[in-house]
Amino acid sequence: MSEERSLNFIEEIIEDDIRSGKNDGRVLTRFPPEPNGYLHIGHAKSICLNFGLAQKYNGKTNLRFDDTNPATEDTEYVDSIRQDIHWLGFEWDKELYSSDYFDQMYAFAQMLIGKGLAYVDDSTAEEIAAAKGTPTEPGTPTPNRSRSAEENLQLFQEMKEGKYPDGAKVLRAKIDLASPNMHMRDPLMYRIRHAHHHRTGNDWCIYPMYDFAHGQSDSIEKITHSVCTLEFIPHRPLYEWFIEQLEIFPSKQYEFARLNLNYTVMSKRKLLQLVNENHVTGWDDPRMPTISGLRRRGFTPLSIRNFCERIGVAKRENIIEYSLLEFCLREDLNKSAWRRMAVLDPIKLIITNYPEGKSEILNGENNPEAEDGDGSREIPFSAELWIEREDFMEEAPKKFFRLGPGLSVRLKNAYIVKCHDFRKDENGNVTEVHCTYIPESKSGSDTSGVSVKGTIHWVSVGHAKTAEIRLYDRLFQVEDPSSEEGDFKNYINPQSLKIIPNVFIEPDLTHAIPGKGYQFIRKGYFTLDTDSTPEKLVFNRTATLKDAWAKEVKKN
Ligand code: ATP
Ligand code: MG
Repeated sequence: MSEERSLNFIEEIIEDDIRSGKNDGRVLTRFPPEPNGYLHIGHAKSICLNFGLAQKYNGKTNLRFDDTNPATEDTEYVDSIRQDIHWLGFEWDKELYSSDYFDQMYAFAQMLIGKGLAYVDDSTAEEIAAAKGTPTEPGTPTPNRSRSAEENLQLFQEMKEGKYPDGAKVLRAKIDLASPNMHMRDPLMYRIRHAHHHRTGNDWCIYPMYDFAHGQSDSIEKITHSVCTLEFIPHRPLYEWFIEQLEIFPSKQYEFARLNLNYTVMSKRKLLQLVNENHVTGWDDPRMPTISGLRRRGFTPLSIRNFCERIGVAKRENIIEYSLLEFCLREDLNKSAWRRMAVLDPIKLIITNYPEGKSEILNGENNPEAEDGDGSREIPFSAELWIEREDFMEEAPKKFFRLGPGLSVRLKNAYIVKCHDFRKDENGNVTEVHCTYIPESKSGSDTSGVSVKGTIHWVSVGHAKTAEIRLYDRLFQVEDPSSEEGDFKNYINPQSLKIIPNVFIEPDLTHAIPGKGYQFIRKGYFTLDTDSTPEKLVFNRTATLKDAWAKEVKKN
């Protein structure tokens, strides 16, 4: 965005650091996804922030897969994450994996054991939790806390060699069992996990915990500003403690508020449930808040980047309105989407004074909003057209600037027509609207002198193609499904997908380009779905033209 804005608090910190010559003015950030799911719009916020900071201060950003949890991680996720970041428009400097540092981390752990700052504990998870105390009561040492460094080194090596089953032992940092910060009460550093890892295979059966892996990875890479979300504030003293005790590069952690959006859920665990239990068709279902879902729905990378910029970087959590995301989307698509015509609920319009069997080719601009023009396409016109049922009324009220007996309207990119008759079926439904057209009123060379208030879209019956159209509504019926009573899935909106099987579209849409936005005039923004084939075209509605929801709220 070109709007001037003041610095966010992280930019202020970075500018201070640069001024004081810290890290020789170097800025290196990282984006550290765990490859246990697809990225969502919350991750986009983190991506835009981390990559954006580096771009602004001439720095770089590493992509680091935080893959220390073998059970849930998968290369499918790694591939999707790489694709999503590229699609958003960012290039990382190095692609790295926490698992690349397993040897180094193991050596770090040995160092801390050697210094008497870590010990192997045979207690069960329950025993450890019970001995941790409460925020108001100090913890008590477990029997193994006083083991010698030699013994600990020996046991830790045996853990690594696979001598013990899962859960039999852990490695803990020896810090302070009375600390008011529970994270400092001898936190776990390593656990035993006999599991296959997506990169290291069966090389390891002990894996470092997040708190030991993350800061050490930052430090190994010499990350200058390690930006994470607020829930890691209480972890920061531990982040700093490990770095100080190991005397390694002093990366610094900064926290900002995570992005929450209304009417959806954002945790990967919950999104995975929606996928596994078939509430959606996959991670890239167009109703999902995932980047792949938004992409398939028709969101543009620019609209997502603008959204992330516009919501700013906060220090307090809040919930952002989905309508703001849509606003950013419409703002971009209005400039970039090509205009086309499609009739979703058709009735026939017959022009009785247009030569029967004749057709002509009219011209329609791709996008009248585009600054330097954006080309045009050919639109076939004939005596029989499809128009929307709602554009005709038998007894039209005063301000109905569309069709009804005696009413005139302009057909988009074509002529002015005037209705003189109509037909109904036995159920009273209008089937045909009969009009005459004014030959001199052709768009672009109108010499008729007639002016009309309304313009409607149409598709020539003999030239129309058909497509399936998928209309989406919000996936949940409540603003914050996660905070409601019971299972969040109880609040899924059963009407979130509506399919219209045979919509009439202008023939040019058979050449629709995947990934491109189209504005179906008066009907919304659409894009080709990945299910689309030349035999069966499928379009997703990305968004309506106006915020239907905001209008709804105003009415009530
Ligand atoms: P989830 O809770 O959805 O599973 P996560 O935090 O476990 O997400 P990670 O893969 O660990 O997911 O996240 C990678 C980075 O993205 C982290 O730095 C994390 O703080 C950030 N991130 C995750 N969710 C959000 C969010 N909603 N808003 C901003 N940043 C986020
Ligand atoms: Mg995480």
